[in-house]
Amino acid sequence: MADADVGERFRAFLRDRNLPVTSQRLAIAELLLHAPGHLSADDVAAQLVEKGHTIGLATVYRTIDLLVASGLVLERDFGEGFRRFEPARDMPHHYHLTCTVCGAVSEFHDDRIEEIIRASALARGFVAARHRLLIGGTCRDCRSSSPDRRTL
Ligand SMILES: [Zn+2]
Ligand SMILES: [Zn+2]
Repeated sequence: MADADVGERFRAFLRDRNLPVTSQRLAIAELLLHAPGHLSADDVAAQLVEKGHTIGLATVYRTIDLLVASGLVLERDFGEGFRRFEPARDMPHHYHLTCTVCGAVSEFHDDRIEEIIRASALARGFVAARHRLLIGGTCRDCRSSSPDRRTL
C-alpha cells in the first residue's frame, strides 16, 4: 500500500465535504496515518510538538475525529479512560494486549477466538455482529524490570 495514497484519500475526504485542507490537518493526518502504534490524542499532540509544529489540542481532536469519520483511522478503547487511534490497515480483526504499567500495546490475531465467539453466540440462537475483547496486564519488559521478578 503506497503511503501517498492514504494522505491523498484524506485530502479527497476533506474536499468532498468542502472542509479546508489546511497544513495543520495534513500534518496530523501524516503522523497518524503512518503511526506504527496506537496513539492517544495527547501522544499525537506531543509528537507534533517534537516535530516543530504548533497545533492546538482542539485542532488535534477535531482532525482526529475527521480521520475516524473518513475510515482511514480506527478508534480504540482499551478501558484506560481515553481513546487511542491506529491507521486502518489491510489486516484481519486483531486483538490488543495493553500493559497497565507502561501503556505499551501489542497486537495479535487468532481465528480461534472469532470462532469461539461465533459458535457460543450461535448455540444460543444469537448471531454476533460485533465483539470486543479487552486484555490488560503486564508486558514482558515491565515484568522483567520489576524487582520481585528479578529475584526469581
Ligand atoms: Zn509494560
Ligand atoms: Zn491495533
